[in-house]
Amino acid sequence: MIRIIKPSTSKLQRSSRSRLLSCWKLRAAAFSTKNGDERLLVIGSGVAGSAAALIAAENYKLPVSMLYAGALPTDCNSYWAQGGIIYEGKEGDDSPDLLAADIHRAGAGLCRDPAVQLVARRGPERVRELLLKGHPFAQVPFDRNAETGALSLCLEASHSAPRILHQADHTGRTITQHLAQAVAQHPLIQQHSHTVVTDLIVEDNICLGVNTLDRSTGVTQQMFGIHGTVLCAGGLGGIYQHSTNPPGFNALGSSVALAKRAGAITQDLEFVQFHPTALYIPNEARFLLTEALRGEGAILRNSSGYAFAKDYHPDGELAPRDVVARAVFEESQRGTVYLDITHRDATWLHQRFPSIQQHLQQHGLDLAKHQLPITPAAHYTCGGVATDLQGRTNVLNLYAAGEAACTGLHGGNRLASTSLLEGLVFGAAVADHVGSEEAKAVAASAAANVSNYKVPNMAWPLEPNHIQNAGVAALELLQRVRSTMWDHVGVARTPAGLERALEELNDVTDEIGTLHSMGPTLETAAVRDAACAGAAVAQAALQNRNSVGAHFITVDAESDTDDDVMVASD
Ligand SMILES: Cc1cc2nc3c(=O)[nH]c(=O)nc-3n(C[C@H](O)[C@H](O)[C@H](O)COP(=O)(O)OP(=O)(O)OC[C@H]3O[C@@H](n4cnc5c(N)ncnc54)[C@H](O)[C@@H]3O)c2cc1C
Repeated sequence: MIRIIKPSTSKLQRSSRSRLLSCWKLRAAAFSTKNGDERLLVIGSGVAGSAAALIAAENYKLPVSMLYAGALPTDCNSYWAQGGIIYEGKEGDDSPDLLAADIHRAGAGLCRDPAVQLVARRGPERVRELLLKGHPFAQVPFDRNAETGALSLCLEASHSAPRILHQADHTGRTITQHLAQAVAQHPLIQQHSHTVVTDLIVEDNICLGVNTLDRSTGVTQQMFGIHGTVLCAGGLGGIYQHSTNPPGFNALGSSVALAKRAGAITQDLEFVQFHPTALYIPNEARFLLTEALRGEGAILRNSSGYAFAKDYHPDGELAPRDVVARAVFEESQRGTVYLDITHRDATWLHQRFPSIQQHLQQHGLDLAKHQLPITPAAHYTCGGVATDLQGRTNVLNLYAAGEAACTGLHGGNRLASTSLLEGLVFGAAVADHVGSEEAKAVAASAAANVSNYKVPNMAWPLEPNHIQNAGVAALELLQRVRSTMWDHVGVARTPAGLERALEELNDVTDEIGTLHSMGPTLETAAVRDAACAGAAVAQAALQNRNSVGAHFITVDAESDTDDDVMVASD
């Protein structure tokens, strides 16, 4: 039986859909050749997608098609990582056991140990292979000690040893640029930009490939990959009103939505990490002000100038991220909250944080002169599509890696700078599995089914104003999703608020489903995924009444009893 899983449609939707179906202009059937299908499909061009593609192509000689929504492969969250990537500290100062202990502590005791051990033990080797070795992989010019030439390792909050590789405050930029170059130069990797994956194609619980929408032409088509499909489409931070995640088709919940519609299991979605300090300038995208600023002495002040952090935790500004985020959230209910590092030397600040300073200058601000208005903001998705250590989901031939996936590595919260490393380790682990004999047997079943399941590419005969009208309507719906997520599924949650959020998100899901079925556009695809992923987070949060890690739930006096909530002790 063949199925593409789609949300159920109303009678009205079905009739408008059939009217449109009857006048589809079919493009010349451009079926892939059999050989063309013998490839691995990788959805996403961030660290995880790049690692999967490079290892599969280089170590296993598999052809790879990398699909991504942006115009450039660097249009991804990975590009924006500021702090750095975990490597290994000096012998004697650091060890895999120490790193594993740090990850477990940050994860509030909920991490899955095999995933933690894999990252702690194999991580450094993957960094050397993918980021330091050079051709055909990347050679990233991380900062080095000026005198010794050794890699410069910095210490970050909640790490027991200096072990973070970095390049100033734009480590993600340099890593993604170098990985993108390696991907572009690899003869077995084909890149497909502007390609939005709208659904996975699943037959008898085997993933055969994807349906795509070319955002530049509006053409929808199928792409098959008999060696598997790897979901590396990132997290869902972008579905919140305040988010550190970059704008564009990024972190809009596609990984979770695609997986859910295909019958794949998701896990730990209630654990959305909120960063305490995003620059808040009205009508501008939020911008991350790295934890390193607080590490260098920045002070949190409320609207009266009072330094409040120690009132919430003895470690003050350096308390765990979720504690600081809730403190900033609570203070911001009474007025603007500021981050203040004006007491440090201007020249040093500008050298230490050049990208932040550059961004601030564009808005008439200066690290050394101004207290910076801040808000907490959705930052990282600890949960995701449930996988084992090879990145396998419960759907055969469907894999997930990076922020898209939930291996159990992060448990209830993520240790800073773990996610770039996670992308390398698990992206590569997927490729290792796909190259194995076991995976080849699944690929053979997929190959047998693919030929039964091809339809021509299609250009939708969209009514003249449809794209514009659908775009406007979809963006309004996206705003509804974002404010609902922030108000009810945000830093502090209540069961009643989560119920309200679910109702609202289900309404949005119905409305966007109608619009999308009348002719998919970039915007309808985005909101369809955002609403689906948002509802999945709200549902997961509703089912977990323990305040632990990044999930904080309190009793709503109107409709809940004290019995509903258990606050975990730490
Ligand atoms: C501001 C900021 C700072 C950070 N700093 C750090 C740090 O210092 N250290 C650290 O370890 N982590 C950091 N993180 C987290 C880290 O950057 C991400 O978790 C990590 O880069 C995720 O990588 P990824 O490959 O899984 O996904 P991403 O890099 O998010 O890539 C997702 C890809 O999927 C594509 N995509 C999405 N939806 C679709 C779709 N439907 N169809 C086709 N393509 C799609 C996108 O186009 C993109 O190519 C930071 C995050 C942010 C936002």
